[in-house]
Amino acid sequence: MYRSILLSFVIAATACKVGANSASAANTNATLTTSVSVASGTGTITSDTSGATTGPIPTTQGAAPGSPANTGGAEGASNTSGSLTATGTPSTQSGAANPNRVPNEMGRIMVLEYHLITDHNADYARERGQFRKDLELLYSRGYRPVNMSDVLDKKLDLPRGLSPVVFVFDDASPEQFRYIDNNGKLEIDPTSGIGIWLDFKKTHPDWNNKAVFCLLSGASAGHNFFGDRGIQGQKSNWRFRKVKWLADNGFELCDHTLWHAQLNKYPDAFVQEQIARNALAIDSAVPGYKIRSMALPQGLWPKNRALASKGSWTNPKTGKTVSYSWPVVFEVAGGPMRSPYDPAFNPGMTPRIQVIGNAIESMINKLEQSSNMYISDGNPSVVARPAASLTAATPGVKR
Ligand SMILES: [Zn+2]
Repeated sequence: MYRSILLSFVIAATACKVGANSASAANTNATLTTSVSVASGTGTITSDTSGATTGPIPTTQGAAPGSPANTGGAEGASNTSGSLTATGTPSTQSGAANPNRVPNEMGRIMVLEYHLITDHNADYARERGQFRKDLELLYSRGYRPVNMSDVLDKKLDLPRGLSPVVFVFDDASPEQFRYIDNNGKLEIDPTSGIGIWLDFKKTHPDWNNKAVFCLLSGASAGHNFFGDRGIQGQKSNWRFRKVKWLADNGFELCDHTLWHAQLNKYPDAFVQEQIARNALAIDSAVPGYKIRSMALPQGLWPKNRALASKGSWTNPKTGKTVSYSWPVVFEVAGGPMRSPYDPAFNPGMTPRIQVIGNAIESMINKLEQSSNMYISDGNPSVVARPAASLTAATPGVKR
């Protein structure tokens, strides 16, 4: 499905922020399938200013006077054992694996959708202390983070009694990942989302660095690989370093288009350019990185839906073509997703849960009350299924 091919490219970016100055490396197992050379600033991507924008991203591609100097890197059987809990109340408060949670690897998995991690709560913003509380809540109720690629690969190897949760951070804002320049040494800002995450991990060692970052590489207002041109103190030449840091430290990278274009408004060629050029930028930051997912800006599908997961774009200046292909397309809402063991699992339309108010807690309660959440049996070689007699014979009964 994914061809291994040597990808080398010379990027001669000029006026476009997404461009990089130079990068080259061997690329194996990549979704990008051909040699490319990007010379931007042609004006083919200018702005997307029409229409009401409900999302957090100003979608105008501001003209950047000179390109950022990027030197960054080159990324069976059933198991019905276990006792039943009698109520829908939380059964795991300590955060430890709870053997009383009945394994069910056919159950639902929450995919949480975050945007800004900042100083207030809003539809597209989570206040820092609240974000920390989200992590505490999930941990204490028996959840541990996994990547979407782990779901796809069915590598949800959690101890018995624990449940996977997928975090997805959209829009590549500096609020998610900020550096502080400490006398020439770059340190992760403890008040940024990643900083809070890493601090939480210090006291919760089994909280792994697993979360999906759906990136923009050419949007305005700092939504360009977590900040550019001095926005929130972030230097343009830190961008690739951040993206590579994420990949190197266990997190997953995802395509969210170049500058958050509302894909329903554009012709096929434009849609593919938005997606492919962003994939190319990710490949510039982490050469060879295998992207497995994309998130639809504002949940808007392109007219030709198939282009969200597969397509190509040919650079008009060079004639070189960039192709992309991946299984996962994230929507903006829709509730918890199905287990990868569920025959109806459909990663091409992956629903998410917008983290607003107490959305996480109420969903946890709902899943516990319906006994319809994914709970690991601790045995990677066995798929734990709910007891058929119980599920069939006791409809509506809380287990
Ligand atoms: Zn977005």
